[in-house]
Amino acid sequence: MSTSSASNFVQNIITEDINNGMTNIHTRFPPEPNGYLHIGHAKSICLNFGLAQTNHGICNLRFDDTNPIKEDTEYVDSIMEDVRWLGFTWSEPVHYASDYFGQFYQCALHLIKTGHAFVCDLDSEAMRQYRGTLTEPGKDSPYRNRSVEENLTLFEAMKNGEFADGAKVLRAKIDMASPNINLRDPVIYRISKTHHHRTGDQWCIYPMYDFAHPISDAIEGITHSVCTLEFEDHRPLYDWVIDHLQEAMHFPSRPKQIEFARLALTKTVTSKRKLKRLVDSGVVDGWDDPRMPTISGLRRRGYTPEAIRNFCELIGVSKSNSLVDFAMLEHCLREDLNQNAPRVMAVLHPLKVVITNYPENKIEHLEAEINPNKPEAGSRQIPFGREIYIEQEDFREEANKKFFRLKLGGEVRLKHAYIIRCDEVIKDETGNIIELHCTYDETTKSGSDNSGKKVKGTLHWVEATTALNAKVCLHDFLLLDDEGDGDFLDAVNPASQVVLQNCKVEPSLAKAQKGDRFQFLRNGYFCADSRYFSSENLVFNHTVSLKDSYKPE
Ligand code: ATP
Ligand code: MG
Repeated sequence: MSTSSASNFVQNIITEDINNGMTNIHTRFPPEPNGYLHIGHAKSICLNFGLAQTNHGICNLRFDDTNPIKEDTEYVDSIMEDVRWLGFTWSEPVHYASDYFGQFYQCALHLIKTGHAFVCDLDSEAMRQYRGTLTEPGKDSPYRNRSVEENLTLFEAMKNGEFADGAKVLRAKIDMASPNINLRDPVIYRISKTHHHRTGDQWCIYPMYDFAHPISDAIEGITHSVCTLEFEDHRPLYDWVIDHLQEAMHFPSRPKQIEFARLALTKTVTSKRKLKRLVDSGVVDGWDDPRMPTISGLRRRGYTPEAIRNFCELIGVSKSNSLVDFAMLEHCLREDLNQNAPRVMAVLHPLKVVITNYPENKIEHLEAEINPNKPEAGSRQIPFGREIYIEQEDFREEANKKFFRLKLGGEVRLKHAYIIRCDEVIKDETGNIIELHCTYDETTKSGSDNSGKKVKGTLHWVEATTALNAKVCLHDFLLLDDEGDGDFLDAVNPASQVVLQNCKVEPSLAKAQKGDRFQFLRNGYFCADSRYFSSENLVFNHTVSLKDSYKPE
């Protein structure tokens, strides 16, 4: 699969524009730096950057930083890191809507001078009453017919900080009877004496999104402004803004807004505001907690950029909202890791096995393939000795014929090693199994077995004296259910993380680096934690299980 949006309705629009003579296709990804990016943003990133690639155009990264109360440079930095990590390159330099504050102001002056904007003193409650409803038209503001001169004087006074926050706004003069509420004289500037992370205290008026966004697009020469469906009703306002400024401002393009369905996933929060609540309330350990559906959380969990890009390609782009099964994202990840992740052995719930007929103090090194799907990855040496660990659940004292793992008196193969038989179960005084005594058959060594013996089960294991201790974090969904109408914090899964403190892993993992991904044989895919992992402190996150529950339709 490639990232080029081979065929979707947005591409079809662009193709038609190109056939009609349009050149220099120019898209943009315009995040507001008020939180970390999540999997939904990945869809928008893949789409916008993908369209630019497919059409030999360019894609801007623009921070939509017009609401200084919620914005922060920490978010700006994380967003740049995430876009790069996903594998995309924006057209330099990075753009900021705040770079255009001067131009937005000039645009507002132009609208005032041409009679298309006015300063309004109604407070927000009164404004709501004047606005009307979906079935009733609104009423004109009593300030609507102020003269151009008065509007210019008042707007300048707003800019100079002469009024309190909320005392006045600048509104576009469109149509209070419009069936589209967005056109009922929408607010385009508000007073907010707030420090901005880039422009400091220079401004105390800030433009509204619906005003700043089309102008930013037009200033940058964007040809196709792709956004999510909830902006469909705003498109007439988008067009109104451009149409009333285009000639005077000499914009390099006449951008076209195109809406697509946002991504929603089962049992997954995709709203920065809600994700911030999870962080602020301490439900998770930061924006990059491995359970978070943020790009940084998915990265820490062990997701690959390829898997996320393939997922975005697979779900496609449409005009109708739908809920995508999270299993589909996991499926894409599993396909990638199955192909590329090195295999190692790790025992999550260790049970000691003593091989009584194996020489004491002897360690031999066995050859083990790194990845059966990638012979060129070669092999590694794994130590084998008299004492090993297996998984507790791989042994039962008594079991029926369908249990192909180890039972008392039964035989199994140890992966890459020998066939062993369980002879004796050692228990503590309360009856808990603490150790197994087994014997091995020297003639059954993997690769040179000529014993003719057949066993049904193969277990993973780790040699005890050379094993390393590791901490393994298992993860489940943060939410127990899909997002409903109630407070989503009520649906938080209290057992979304389980930490296993005493796991045993093969010694080769001492060389792992932060972020490395592995298949722990039979246990799933795991990733060395990017925050806490070191060769003295082996911490792994469970990435995804081995078993695929995704069924293509
Ligand atoms: P949130 O609700 O999480 O705050 P947002 O839309 O306010 O999301 P922005 O920073 O404004 O976040 O989003 C940047 C771009 O990403 C926008 O073009 C937006 O349409 C797109 N986007 C956001 N969420 C999704 C999603 N779930 N699926 C697809 N695109 C999305
Ligand atoms: Mg937004």
